[in-house]
Amino acid sequence: MTKHNFSAGPSILPKEVFDGSSNAILQYQQTGLSIIEMSHRSKEVGLIIEEAKSLVIELLNLNGNEYEVLFLQGGASLQFLMVAYNLLNKKAGYLNTGSWSEKAIKEAKFFGEVIELSSSKNNGYRSIPKDFDIPDDIDYVHMTSNNTIYGTQYHSAPKTNLPLVVDSSSDIFSREFDYSSYDLIYAGAQKNVGPAGVTLVVVKKDILGKVSREIPSMLNYNIHIEKKSLFNTPPVFAIYATLLNLRWIKKKTIKSIGQNNLKKAKMLYDEIDNNKLFKGFVDVQDRSLMNVTFDLVDNNLSNTFDVIIEQSNISGVKGHRSIGGYRASLYNALPIKSVEALINCMDELKIKFNK
Ligand SMILES: *Cc1c(COP(=O)(O)O)cnc(C)c1O
Repeated sequence: MTKHNFSAGPSILPKEVFDGSSNAILQYQQTGLSIIEMSHRSKEVGLIIEEAKSLVIELLNLNGNEYEVLFLQGGASLQFLMVAYNLLNKKAGYLNTGSWSEKAIKEAKFFGEVIELSSSKNNGYRSIPKDFDIPDDIDYVHMTSNNTIYGTQYHSAPKTNLPLVVDSSSDIFSREFDYSSYDLIYAGAQKNVGPAGVTLVVVKKDILGKVSREIPSMLNYNIHIEKKSLFNTPPVFAIYATLLNLRWIKKKTIKSIGQNNLKKAKMLYDEIDNNKLFKGFVDVQDRSLMNVTFDLVDNNLSNTFDVIIEQSNISGVKGHRSIGGYRASLYNALPIKSVEALINCMDELKIKFNK
């Protein structure tokens, strides 16, 4: 029996992706070759990359003449420094909404001055900062759209005329959203995109080429654009699995995926708000639709709850080690019935303790 997988990442992907990528390992189409033994310069792999790129543009509803799609490696964590390497001349502004933002800030400081435009650190990252000014003498603004660890999410993009860079690792393709507000979008694949090992970067070409420093080839967006993500051997298998997932998203449509994600989140937050044994971790208006963080009001019940969870075949709901409690990640492929299974566990605990 498969588990209800609430893991924050790597995380659940559609069954079609597991099936299709398994078949491709045995033999890719009628080529007589496995996908993992095929040249990245072959016609087949060229077609995989082209289709994946155009699906990314289509699903994010962007103009393909303005934006380039890259499949890189090194995770979102390498983007923390690659963004600054390519865009930071003197000064950049960062919105600090949690651990991932902090890490991005730390790496950017290798390349110039970094100012925190706003931070929710002093309330334990339980909210999204709302009031802040953006000075016009900075090179770009960086934000984390969904805070995977704390469970907060921006529900609209901040307004600015400066280049806006977003780490969208844990909410890309999860809802209808105006992605053209952003000039550079990056995401480690292993949440809503595909398997770990590939990193998606979507960048507006006209923000590049403006820094004065020399950039080593492997870290230079323009080189990867010029070489069409084939500057070196790309992670072909991970890109293929990503393509299968993008096809699945297209078939479902972003609109219906967004509605489904909203429904799942609402079901679980309603339970948290109505079940007296539980409490949410973040401000209601900033709640993430992807990563739902919550805790028991009385920690003495945690052993009992953990047993109930395990007996219900639920996996991956332990909170991040830095905040504890519980975290249920509701990525695109997680079915409603998994959310129902978790809610049943919470109800079972309530009945047991007669609340
Ligand atoms: C998971 C995650 C990362 C880290 O991604 P890696 O691919 O492991 O480097 C960065 N930012 C956010 C928002 C994440 O959720």
